[in-house]
Amino acid sequence: MNKKDLRSVEYDKMESLIMLLGEKKFRAEQIYSWIHKKHIFSVSQMNNVPVLLRDKVSDEYDIYTVKEVKKQESAIDGTRKYLFELYDGNLIESVFMRYEHGNSVCISTQAGCRMGCRFCASTIDGLARNLTAGEMLGQIYGIIADTGERISNVVTMGSGEPLDNYESVITFIRMLTDGHGLNISQRNITVSTCGLVPMIKKLADEKLTITLAISLHASNDEKRRELMPIAYKYSLKEIMEACHYYFVKTGRRLTFEYSLVRNINDTPKDAEELSSLLKGLNCHINLIPVNPIKERDYVQSDKKAVLSFKNKLEKKHINVTIRREMGRDIDGACGQLRRRIIHEKNY
Ligand code: SAH
Repeated sequence: MNKKDLRSVEYDKMESLIMLLGEKKFRAEQIYSWIHKKHIFSVSQMNNVPVLLRDKVSDEYDIYTVKEVKKQESAIDGTRKYLFELYDGNLIESVFMRYEHGNSVCISTQAGCRMGCRFCASTIDGLARNLTAGEMLGQIYGIIADTGERISNVVTMGSGEPLDNYESVITFIRMLTDGHGLNISQRNITVSTCGLVPMIKKLADEKLTITLAISLHASNDEKRRELMPIAYKYSLKEIMEACHYYFVKTGRRLTFEYSLVRNINDTPKDAEELSSLLKGLNCHINLIPVNPIKERDYVQSDKKAVLSFKNKLEKKHINVTIRREMGRDIDGACGQLRRRIIHEKNY
């Protein structure tokens, strides 16, 4: 695309842009509101903006499409999974979930991923490209249009590694929490990472009040390397240091995600090691029985192993929950729907 994404332009930058075009400042508010409050998808829909200005803006900018091409709704819990197509034909997934504390949306930050985690379907075909901030927002706006409901929580647990697309993710967070747009509280945003240490430190320095979730999945480097290639680059020691730094800088409690794989990382010894690793850190662990994908033969831990893992951690006074599985009947695992459709349709 030669043109830039208008949905990615932050409010103050929109003002500068409009003034640079020789127009009055209030036009910026009008345009921003069309995009981020009314969620229109074409400059031509801005009917209170003079055609001349619309043309000037359109010379350089376009609103990148995030078009719903497929939707699946879980008969079990009402979770909706969306497949969106981007302007260049790339496909991404997003999920809408209803919880007691409000509605949550899980977005993708990249089309595909290059991190290579062994159990994850999103990474199998590698990274196609980074998403713009506007394409991240577009997923949420599309879901609001479809459900007609308010969104209070956003997590970056769709495809992609958010800290591998750092600048756009930060812009996305600023725009998502902007009063001129959805005005979502930073505290209700969770950025999940496989552990890119320098980027965790950089994020800490932004002084945001978002929640940082670290995908741990193992409690020693050897095991972690078998599941997550990124563990060859950064050791658990380095990750823990970065987590301490994040907590000191932001005061935010960390979340650790731990997907339980039968006989691989779910033994009593693993639980022991995990509790020593996290000792003294203000954190919360989310245990997720691994969602089996057909390309790999990882098996979900059985209920007994999951509960005993949880008990062991609780005995060490670690805050732990078992993630409720949502949308298991609709290709719930990260990247499954996208892969299935790409292969069926030969995209
Ligand atoms: N790149 C980010 C976001 C990935 S998706 C990260 O690594 O955190 C969000 C979470 O789902 C991560 O913890 C990821 O490791 C986990 N995940 C991916 N595929 C999974 C599967 N099949 N079963 C269980 N968890 C999975």
